[in-house]
Amino acid sequence: MPTSSPRRRGVRLPGRPVSAQTTDIGAKIYGLASRLYPICRSITGKGVRDTLAIVREHIELAIHEVPSGTAVFDWTVPDEWNIRDAYIKDPEGRRVVDFQRHNLHVMSYSTPVRARMSLEQLRPYLHHDPARPDAIPYRTSYYRRNWGFCLSQRQADSLAEAQYEVVIDSELAPGSLTYGELYVAGRTDREILIFTHVCHPSLANDNVSGIALATLFGAAVAAAPGRHSVRMVFAPGTIGCITWLAQNEQRLGKIDHGLVIGLLGDRGPLTYKRSQRGDAPVDRVAQYVVQGAGAKHRVIDFHPYGYDERQLCSPGFNLPVGRLTRSPNEGYPEYHSSGDDLNLIDPAALRESYDTLARIVHILDADEAYRNLSPKCEPQLGKRGLYRSTGGGGRTEMDDALLWVLNQSDGARSLLQIAQRAGIGFEIIEQAALDLERVGLLARVH
Ligand code: ZN
Repeated sequence: MPTSSPRRRGVRLPGRPVSAQTTDIGAKIYGLASRLYPICRSITGKGVRDTLAIVREHIELAIHEVPSGTAVFDWTVPDEWNIRDAYIKDPEGRRVVDFQRHNLHVMSYSTPVRARMSLEQLRPYLHHDPARPDAIPYRTSYYRRNWGFCLSQRQADSLAEAQYEVVIDSELAPGSLTYGELYVAGRTDREILIFTHVCHPSLANDNVSGIALATLFGAAVAAAPGRHSVRMVFAPGTIGCITWLAQNEQRLGKIDHGLVIGLLGDRGPLTYKRSQRGDAPVDRVAQYVVQGAGAKHRVIDFHPYGYDERQLCSPGFNLPVGRLTRSPNEGYPEYHSSGDDLNLIDPAALRESYDTLARIVHILDADEAYRNLSPKCEPQLGKRGLYRSTGGGGRTEMDDALLWVLNQSDGARSLLQIAQRAGIGFEIIEQAALDLERVGLLARVH
């Protein structure tokens, strides 16, 4: 059952977006993803800047430019890549392969080319995938200077022997790497870090679904900050994350919890991948939320491949950062090909992903420990207006929740631990704690 059901959420939550306010959030995320989809992104260049400019229409993103050549741990910020046009023309002057029709037709980071060549000479520069004969594959060559075109197997097989005109009007030159960062101050300076990659061209699930969802979630957090401060980073995969870590190493001690998010729009089941630690609070909370979202959903263990958890969970940092996706990387047939288009992503799936992220962040914020201030026997709840049932029957879940919270609040157990032991939804336990705190029977432990 999706977490978007208001009944399941139990109560209206203070300080965080709730589903009643976000009934059409899936459609909004889909709309934003559709706007971002046509842009030709890469790890640097105009595509990333144009993307972040659209994100900035929704949230107060700080834009950082890091010059090419900057040393970042074992890596170097590469030259900036930009592209205006590319094609392969047949002798009749027809563009048989055309970057203007699909930006996946050019291998990302292709060096400029202007040449006439035979099909035989051209073949080594053509990339196609026999396993997916109708799809244009996504290929990159960031760190080895090369050029190439990508096309469907079917089209590659149908090319006639001829002299072709081959043009890639690109530029690879010193510039900068761009990333965006949103910081929303909470009641404390302890941080929740949310990381999403922004480097893929026209691919919908991987990765405009993640960019769009992160953007609208950031707007909701900014409108209603919680206990933690929230830092959201929109950066190119791998090199962007490495660059961000190199520039922010002194601040990492403030991060209490984190999530890498992406691939959140396909119809596959939600997947939570644990942090390297495996037992961080974010692992406990995300596992609770994802498993509560239905039997199909998966929790998988850490492995050192994937997205930016590869850097954030590297041994020199070992941050408490897990990953939320639907189908994981390489986990669906359209992955990294033109098949990953706007038909693959779905507003209902985006909404469920959004609600899951919102609930994880809400619980991370609200999962505090309390102390029972009247621990000798049960305090009399009726005279404080908290005991709702009439004697002899009709005990409500909230009545039980009040008793569980009083019994278990020893100053060490957190609300989530109590919810799990009681078998009562977190939000009900949370509401019970807030009610007991209001009448002076419970105190928050800091
Ligand atoms: Zn990818």
